[in-house]
Amino acid sequence: MEDCIFCKIIAKQIPANVIYEDEQIIAFRDIHPVAPVHILVIPKKHIASLIDLTKEDEAIVGKIYTVINEIAEKEKLNERGFRVIVNCGEDGGQEVKHLHFHLIGGKKLGTKIVN
Ligand code: AMP
Ligand code: ZN
Repeated sequence: MEDCIFCKIIAKQIPANVIYEDEQIIAFRDIHPVAPVHILVIPKKHIASLIDLTKEDEAIVGKIYTVINEIAEKEKLNERGFRVIVNCGEDGGQEVKHLHFHLIGGKKLGTKIVN
């Protein structure tokens, strides 16, 4: 999709630190990490937000969680744990309008998930 920064990363039009890629999913390091490990896992299909998810996309979301689990193991997060965040829409603080899953870990995260 035009003007979508994540679609441009998928199309290799702008660079990213890609750590996983298959036909449907790509994962790359967040440009402004909030923790030692901060990776974005996204569907290659342009889905603007969780709000826009339909039944048709159920399988891809399931697969994204499996990929997150595999990446977490590679990043050695599986023993101490990690957090997965999906910001959604205006109130959810979503800045990039292409569905993405933040995989965050590598330090003890705060217990507050809302502020
Ligand atoms: P959100 O607020 O949930 O929409 O998060 C968007 C995330 O994308 C932020 O954590 C940004 O740091 C990250 N981001 C924006 N542009 C890029 C980029 N070109 N490469 C990697 N991460 C990016
Ligand atoms: Zn997109």
